Amino acid sequence: MKVQIKRLIDLQNCDSRISDVRDKKEKGPIKIRRLEEGLIAFENKLEEELERLEAYKQEGRKIDGEIEDIDSRIEKSNNKLSNIKSNKEYTAALKELDDLKRIQSLSEDKALDIMEGIEVLEAGYVESKAKLEKLRSDVEKDRGEIMEEMKELEQESKRLGMERISLGQTIDENLLKRYDFIRERKGGSVVSPVIKGVCQACHLDIPPQQFNEVIRGDKLMTCPNCIRIIYWGEDESFKNDAAVGENGKG
Ligand SMILES: [Zn+2]
Repeated sequence: MKVQIKRLIDLQNCDSRISDVRDKKEKGPIKIRRLEEGLIAFENKLEEELERLEAYKQEGRKIDGEIEDIDSRIEKSNNKLSNIKSNKEYTAALKELDDLKRIQSLSEDKALDIMEGIEVLEAGYVESKAKLEKLRSDVEKDRGEIMEEMKELEQESKRLGMERISLGQTIDENLLKRYDFIRERKGGSVVSPVIKGVCQACHLDIPPQQFNEVIRGDKLMTCPNCIRIIYWGEDESFKNDAAVGENGKG
């Protein structure tokens, strides 16, 4: 029985590696999607920065046009002023010129603000663009690494699949069926050591009579609580084998 139990333990180790590999394989595309989403979010941010910059530039052009317009109106107003004869008209023209100059000054202040704003936004945009380039190459690199890892996992998965088949061939058919039956229901561990009378899977006591039978190890025993196949975990031969098995796995 011990030999069969040891083979079941090997099978269980193989199965847990198979499910580890499967989990890792499932994570690959998720990781890639996350990387791509991060990149798209950054691209959108950059696009927004560019739009804001363009809006500022457009505003700047508008103000420049307004200033040009005011300048020519001031020039006309000045010409008018030098040709005026009556006092009343002169006062009115002077007021008009004053008003225009006030508007000119306000527009010039605004143009200056916008120019400063454009400088800040442009610097920010250049910086973000450089960051995006860096992010793009990082994502490319990470994606390549993940794809490479996926390829390796695929090979590992095939190798483990073959290992499982050959391990299965060394196990009694009914025992293997039982193992698969329990695995389907319990998932994860099927074979559990009993240490100091306690099943290590469900952590409940094995009745003394049954524990004695587990220690003898001459027939197949299952935990009365969790139905897993149990063996005596303190048995030195299992301990040594487990250690060798783990070292062998690397
Ligand atoms: Zn149990």
